[in-house]
Amino acid sequence: MPSFAPFLFLYYSYRKPGFTEGDLKVIQNPIGKQIFFAGEHTSPYGASVHGACESGLRVAQEIIQALD
Ligand SMILES: Cc1cc2nc3c(=O)[nH]c(=O)nc-3n(C[C@H](O)[C@H](O)[C@H](O)COP(=O)(O)OP(=O)(O)OC[C@H]3O[C@@H](n4cnc5c(N)ncnc54)[C@H](O)[C@@H]3O)c2cc1C
Repeated sequence: MPSFAPFLFLYYSYRKPGFTEGDLKVIQNPIGKQIFFAGEHTSPYGASVHGACESGLRVAQEIIQALD
């Protein structure tokens, strides 16, 4: 277990009932043009490897757009 994350290891996110697409947009929202959020918890396909990959592709696009 990484010492920097004693409570973050071998887990995935869980959405409460009532979680909306709007909530997802908030989680995905970058901070300026420097901090971007990827990870399964930011994907419509949460709690899966597919979601993690999808989020990486989304953030790559966001970074490319931020560089323009
Ligand atoms: C038991 C189990 C079974 C699963 N089975 C499946 C399955 O069959 N199919 C499927 O599609 N998905 C499955 N999943 C879900 C899948 O593993 C996750 O959704 C996916 O790995 C999430 O990828 P991620 O990159 O978003 O996050 P993670 O894989 O959790 O990666 C996050 C990384 O960030 C690191 N980190 C955390 N904090 C810090 C910090 N402060 N500084 C630096 N690094 C940090 C962590 O150490 C970790 O390496 C399973 C998950 C579990 C726990």
